Amino acid sequence: MQYSVIKKALDRDFTQVKESLVEGRGVFAKRNIPKGSRIIEYQGKRVNKKDLISDMVAGKTSLRYVMNLSETVAIDAERSGNDSRFINHSCEPNCTVYFFDDKPFIYALREINKGEELSFDYQLGTDSKDLNPDLKKELFPCNCGSEKCKGTLFSID
Ligand SMILES: [Zn+2]
Repeated sequence: MQYSVIKKALDRDFTQVKESLVEGRGVFAKRNIPKGSRIIEYQGKRVNKKDLISDMVAGKTSLRYVMNLSETVAIDAERSGNDSRFINHSCEPNCTVYFFDDKPFIYALREINKGEELSFDYQLGTDSKDLNPDLKKELFPCNCGSEKCKGTLFSID
């Protein structure tokens, strides 16, 4: 089998980027996506978290598309990212992130209909004791519209 054929079989081409109802651009289902499908890899540049702020100050990134990988490493999808970076947060998401061989992939948590916007729970974490729930809502507000909306992209425990 030719490589291009294999590539096509692996790349299910489930998504398209459009204006979002939630915020900015969003990622939408181009076709019906069965529950449990691997939709897209969350690609981007692997960065040391301690460099993120200086990179932002240097104008290399806006920090808008950062996914936590570990204590020290994050993926900055603003650099070398794919369409997955436009997937918005929801407190009642239809997708989730699973890691395989250290790579994050977006999976369908349920059957997703053609035309639906994809979302996952960013579960922003922080060690900072200064961030009480009110401040979290102020700094990273959520407008996902879900009845279960926490009001912030942070996880609130
Ligand atoms: Zn919400």
